[in-house]
Amino acid sequence: MLGRDAGHIADPRPDVLVVGGGILGVATAAAIMDSGLGSVQLIEAGRLGSGATGGATGLLVPEPHQWSDPETFVDLERASLERWRYLDQVTPGGLGLVELDWIGLAPDPGGLAAHQPKNVEWLDAAKITALVPGLAWHLGGALIRHQARVNPLRAIIGLAQNVPSIGTGVAATAVTVKGDKIEAVSTSAGTISPGAVVFATGQPPVVDGLDLDIPADRVKGHLVVTEPANIHLPCTIVPVATPLEDGRLLAGGTLDYGDESPAVREEVIDAIVAGLRAALPGLRALKVSHQWCCFRPRHPDGRPVIDRMPGLRNAWLTSGHFRTGILNAPATGMALARWISAGQPPPETGAWSATRFARTAH
Ligand SMILES: Cc1cc2nc3c(=O)[nH]c(=O)nc-3n(C[C@H](O)[C@H](O)[C@H](O)COP(=O)(O)OP(=O)(O)OC[C@H]3O[C@@H](n4cnc5c(N)ncnc54)[C@H](O)[C@@H]3O)c2cc1C
Repeated sequence: MLGRDAGHIADPRPDVLVVGGGILGVATAAAIMDSGLGSVQLIEAGRLGSGATGGATGLLVPEPHQWSDPETFVDLERASLERWRYLDQVTPGGLGLVELDWIGLAPDPGGLAAHQPKNVEWLDAAKITALVPGLAWHLGGALIRHQARVNPLRAIIGLAQNVPSIGTGVAATAVTVKGDKIEAVSTSAGTISPGAVVFATGQPPVVDGLDLDIPADRVKGHLVVTEPANIHLPCTIVPVATPLEDGRLLAGGTLDYGDESPAVREEVIDAIVAGLRAALPGLRALKVSHQWCCFRPRHPDGRPVIDRMPGLRNAWLTSGHFRTGILNAPATGMALARWISAGQPPPETGAWSATRFARTAH
């Protein structure tokens, strides 16, 4: 399923071509199909979810971002969580969305507790201990209810059901531009002549014929999943772990700045496991069942680009979703579908233009 129609382009003249089969590409392709804009061909160089998407925790937690992000960003996240819930309801078999509360442990009640938005409940250390038996730390924390999580690969398979033409193992290599339009996209499996193109390639696309200069890098992260644990966590607890449905714990999500190696580093895994043991000493003979790393695409301000391609009338891009691409995929996809169909940018995209980076102003 993640390797659909390998090496094959079913529709070489689609109304819309989506390049990139991560969560942003698949959610955008599904939103375009939903909006009745016409036929969609999606191409993905590897397998669906083989980039950042397949390695993510899958937390859909807009509300904690109230402390760190501008209102426009939190609004996008909230709208996207609502869209995830809707899509989970209407997709045959669902998308595997699990409702989840969120607790952020804070050593500094004077900070968090003093600046509590309305939907945040401050719990003192005694209340946290009652909720999380076995927690070694005597700390208060912020409780936010009604957040959620998806398994990103399960979700991408669900969303991909709505996209009939998906070619995996097909890389876009070049574009032919005439005037202000992309006329053709060369790929490893032949040429595509689309009406419009959306690039959802994680980082900005690197394709011959596209003259883009949007600053971006990537930030590696490690994650571990334990075997089923003898301690039950009631919700996701930051910075401890997220409980999975079968009793296993998902921990990590490190920010390994500057580490460009694709390899899992044992010392990082050891530090994650040591942190888990320190927080929950009662975890008996804790065994790790899976460990991996992946790279988050990022722009310098840590926020995404959702924009029309500078200088091109029929091409769009979304990139640099950094730590919240799973969460923001459905709202981003909807915004792009609306923009392509109306020809005008929807208001929620205003803050995410490529031109906010001075270097791109050409
Ligand atoms: C450790 C970790 C934990 C995370 N946890 C969360 C979380 O809890 N919640 C959350 O919301 N986000 C989380 N994220 C972030 C999230 O994973 C990313 O923001 C998101 O997956 C980005 O999706 P994307 O589709 O833009 O990129 P990707 O998933 O990287 O997809 C881009 C795809 O484009 C394809 N591609 C690139 N170039 C071409 C080309 N020329 N032709 C064809 N295909 C091409 C690539 O092969 C790739 O599959 C986490 C990330 C990491 C690393």
